[in-house]
Amino acid sequence: MTALRVITSEGADTFLDAATVQDFAARLRGSLLRHGDGGYDEARKLFNGMIDHRPALIARCAGAADVIAAVQFARQHDLLVSIKGGGHGVAGKAVCDGGLMIDFSRMKSIRVDPTERTVRAEPGVLGAELDRETQAFGLATPVGTVSTTGIAGLTLGGGQSWLASKYGFAIDNLRSVDIVTADGTLRTASATQQEDLFWAIRGAGHNFGVVTSFEYRLHPVGPVLGGLVIHPLSQAVEVLRFYREFSVSQPDELQTWAGILTLPDGNPVVALAPCYVGSLEEGERLLSPLRRFGTPIADTVAPLPYVAMQQIFDAAFPPGRLNYWKSALTSHLADEVIEASVEYARKLPSPFTVILFAELHGAYSRVGKTETAYFHRDLQYDAIILSGWTDPADTQRNIGWTRELFAAWEPHLARAAYVNDLGDEGEDRARSAYGGNYARLVALKTKYDPTNLFRMNQNIRPTV
Ligand SMILES: Cc1cc2nc3c(=O)[nH]c(=O)nc-3n(C[C@H](O)[C@H](O)[C@H](O)COP(=O)(O)OP(=O)(O)OC[C@H]3O[C@@H](n4cnc5c(N)ncnc54)[C@H](O)[C@@H]3O)c2cc1C
Repeated sequence: MTALRVITSEGADTFLDAATVQDFAARLRGSLLRHGDGGYDEARKLFNGMIDHRPALIARCAGAADVIAAVQFARQHDLLVSIKGGGHGVAGKAVCDGGLMIDFSRMKSIRVDPTERTVRAEPGVLGAELDRETQAFGLATPVGTVSTTGIAGLTLGGGQSWLASKYGFAIDNLRSVDIVTADGTLRTASATQQEDLFWAIRGAGHNFGVVTSFEYRLHPVGPVLGGLVIHPLSQAVEVLRFYREFSVSQPDELQTWAGILTLPDGNPVVALAPCYVGSLEEGERLLSPLRRFGTPIADTVAPLPYVAMQQIFDAAFPPGRLNYWKSALTSHLADEVIEASVEYARKLPSPFTVILFAELHGAYSRVGKTETAYFHRDLQYDAIILSGWTDPADTQRNIGWTRELFAAWEPHLARAAYVNDLGDEGEDRARSAYGGNYARLVALKTKYDPTNLFRMNQNIRPTV
């Protein structure tokens, strides 16, 4: 084996000799993959087909000890490092070019404690896998609305879900994490241990280390009342205005999202997606005005197993498509946002693109803005343009359309983003996600990661 060309944390070229690489491989209980090894290409694949990065080394970790070895190795050789959980981050930060990727695809253990109502999960677990195990006990914790998403990246940035208004974000249900920090130390962070680190990882967690275990609180959940109420695009302005009124007066048990999308038959539509988590009779009563509004072309709302609700959007977001997203949070859906969305929907460049308004209230908004690193608790809507297409020849057209619609939205939305929706959009946009907690996060980054070892994320730069 010859020397291996690698990229340093600052982006310079250097080489690792064969013995050094072999010695590292021997220190892992899992495996070390290089270009040409079986599984290498599968391991570096991401949800977003726009990203095609090739790490020099992939440490397919089997446990926390492997993660410690990987972090120490990266430090010792000043390697660029990335961390891959479920690979759904649309910015593609999970896979680095030329550095060392820490791969969690083999760390999937899940242990539910039904008596204490807690679950412990490793960072390679996907939403569907966690839901399956917790629902075996009739329990759940909030981990997203598309079940193929990784729990790791999702939780560390916040974790929106159908349970957000009833039980808060994923981070609001996190009891503790085990985390390997940049000095190679494995720590437990919780409300009573490493409290400052525990604060930071709940909303800005991608920046502070490598989480090797998540412990969540569980709640009895399901069945739920949910589905889609679909109207033709010609009714979209009226439907979205109705949605705005309806969504401000929902109890914690009810959350409703709205989206413009294209049906498999090619027809663009506007859909309301409610999910009621509580007594089905009460849910039927509360959803009646929403289902009676206008003249829907379809209404699939029905009692559903919770895991089925968690998968209703899965087919719309298969892995491997080309994706470009723009998003911002807002406290109010302005007429201008609604009107621009409908105008641009009339010239959608791809049938796979979705314009989404994800609404959050209740338990999510009762957590203080500085209680966790997730700051924007007062902003009720996440407005997201999820552009997806398949032919690389269409890339410029789709990106151009997305940027134009976002430019029309921008004056009417807050200068605030949800960190997990961001693409590779620069420092200002990343900062807008951390809002008023940014200065405290910089101080903690400087304390825990002074050399910015963990920079493949929406980066918070240390001040040293
Ligand atoms: C189809 C789709 C649907 C989505 N739906 C939702 C939703 O309903 N609610 C919501 O809140 N978000 C949603 N998201 C956004 C989602 O939260 C982010 O994509 C999130 O990053 C996914 O986590 P992952 O582990 O799959 O990501 P990855 O791409 O593997 O990682 C993303 C980031 O997390 C870091 N990271 C991963 N694992 C670790 C770890 N163990 N320790 C430290 N850092 C780590 C990576 O370094 C990277 O910076 C969705 C995304 C997609 C593509």
